Amino acid sequence: MIDTLPPLREVVRAHGLEPKKSLGQNFLFDLNLTSRIARAAGPLDDVTVVEIGPGPGGLTRALLAAGAREVIAVERDERCLAALSEIAAHYPDRLEIVAGDALATDLAQLVAGVAGRKQICANLPYNIGTALLVQWLESPVWPPWYDKLTLMFQREVAERIVATPEQRVDYGRLGVLCGCLTKARILFDVPPSAFTPPPKVVSSVVELLPRTDPLPCRIEILSAVTQAAFHQRRKMLRQSLKGLGVEALELLNAAGIDGTKRAEEVDVAGFVRLAQQLVILRSR
Ligand code: SAM
Repeated sequence: MIDTLPPLREVVRAHGLEPKKSLGQNFLFDLNLTSRIARAAGPLDDVTVVEIGPGPGGLTRALLAAGAREVIAVERDERCLAALSEIAAHYPDRLEIVAGDALATDLAQLVAGVAGRKQICANLPYNIGTALLVQWLESPVWPPWYDKLTLMFQREVAERIVATPEQRVDYGRLGVLCGCLTKARILFDVPPSAFTPPPKVVSSVVELLPRTDPLPCRIEILSAVTQAAFHQRRKMLRQSLKGLGVEALELLNAAGIDGTKRAEEVDVAGFVRLAQQLVILRSR
């Protein structure tokens, strides 16, 4: 037992929180598992944790029990707010509930007045997990306001996040973005049976630590290059990089990359060089 609040299944029943597929609602009721995720995010003393999609509050409770100074929880489903208020009452001044869409919420602004270390920890709704991660990584300020992300994704997305050119199938735009800006690793897998209702696939908890010294390049330019390169991933780069507004071969030569290579053979540093050279060539 991590607190004296009612068991999560009881909370779900009492508040009529029938899981909605449209909101990616796969709830965690196993306290050992939610505690394990909170421990993976930790140590949490003096840390403010932003949690996306608290739902009935299983992970929220684990984060609070693990000692987070405060949890700021952004939930879109209004049905969950009453259950979350009960947790807030149990942990006075330590849980702020924000009703709204995380995709439309400026988290940096949300924590603007908060002193000390800040993190994001979440069992993300699968349908918008990648979009949220990309939004947080494409922060206009770097290093960003958070010093760690501990996030649950589908295993397949987790593999794309940590992929390198050696794992060709999984390596793509997401791997380049995450590799450029963070040190990412898969911490552990979670089987479908751990969720209610069980999803079709295995999930993984991923840790992303923002690099304090990322390779210097403009992220929107890097994104344009990787979009062109991976959109036609089987084609040679001298072909797929046409359409960036510069001579593809000139760009590849300037970046020191063989034009007969394919996107999946170029490492993060190579894509950063391409983005840097694209800016230079475009300014001529
Ligand atoms: N944290 C809970 C748990 O582990 O049991 C629930 C996780 S469930 C996978 C995803 C949660 O995200 C749901 O509570 C859902 O209502 C919420 N959600 C879905 N879309 C959202 C959005 N755009 N903004 C905020 N929360 C959202």
